[in-house]
Amino acid sequence: MNGRGKKVGFIAIIGFPNAGKSTLLNAILKQKISIMSPRPQTTRYRIEGIYTTERSQIIFVDTPGFIRAETGLNHILQTEIEEAISNSDAVLILIEPENLSAIEGADEIFKTFFNKVRQLKKPFLVALNKIDTLKKDECQQYLNKLGQLSQSGEVIPVSALKNENLDSLVSRIEDLLPEGEYLYDPEQIAIKSERFLCQEMIREQLFYLLHKEIPYECAVTIEEFDESERYNEDPTKGIVRISAVIYVARESLKPILIGKDGSMIKKIGTMARANIENFLGCKIFLSLRVVVKKNWNKDRFFLYDLGYKKV
Ligand code: GDP
Ligand code: MG
Repeated sequence: MNGRGKKVGFIAIIGFPNAGKSTLLNAILKQKISIMSPRPQTTRYRIEGIYTTERSQIIFVDTPGFIRAETGLNHILQTEIEEAISNSDAVLILIEPENLSAIEGADEIFKTFFNKVRQLKKPFLVALNKIDTLKKDECQQYLNKLGQLSQSGEVIPVSALKNENLDSLVSRIEDLLPEGEYLYDPEQIAIKSERFLCQEMIREQLFYLLHKEIPYECAVTIEEFDESERYNEDPTKGIVRISAVIYVARESLKPILIGKDGSMIKKIGTMARANIENFLGCKIFLSLRVVVKKNWNKDRFFLYDLGYKKV
């Protein structure tokens, strides 16, 4: 390959809720790794998917929809986003036209934002999504504007929904990443993604069932995924046995997760089981445990250690 090494690295995707981050990831990964949730901001700082080809391995890290109107950019950039950016090799900033046209004071907000990003000294890339909704000259205007606000030479127009220009976006991402050895065994990824999705289906229920800040202090990991009885001669009898742990960052969260007489953990299990059965197409036996792991959410790539170690 012209003496060129493989490009490998973590890339943080940042954008307003609804900018199309999940759609973009799904389109790039061509499989549903990222959960499309009806509730915004169900993702916090975690691996969303791993794109592996001959040329590169790109590990996408999602961040919570970054700008919350009520707290403002300054606050949020101090916390999760900044952390996600500093733990990544490069940053992809995804903007949709409405972010520029419908938000009051958008120019100032974006100027401040891009200044902050620049201070973190990570290579970044700006992409304008949803160009399928724009006329050609409108699109050019938005691109110019974003170019000015970000002071970056290039803004990449894409449509995640219509699969437009995604190849060149990926290739620009590759340009930003360092050369290195693959961090994940490509053959393991396919196997793991099913397991990973089951993990995320359990986590998703936390967002439906618990008070809004609590899920962010929980991590889910699957400890056992036993498929030995999955492919039964009688397909209606196949079963997958899953044992999962819900890690909580504080002791006081444990009784909340368990609920009165175990009612909450039971509910989480029932709901998650229904979704997972539907997804795997067989019966599952799901056992859930709650474990206190203080400040897990301050560990660098805790989920990386738990779920993605090279086998
Ligand atoms: P996220 O909150 O950033 O993850 O955004 P989603 O990926 O969930 O997308 C939010 C909405 O925008 C969904 O209704 C998507 O179908 C829509 N969307 C995403 N990308 C595009 C695009 O390129 N064009 C159009 N027209 N809609 C898009
Ligand atoms: Mg999303």
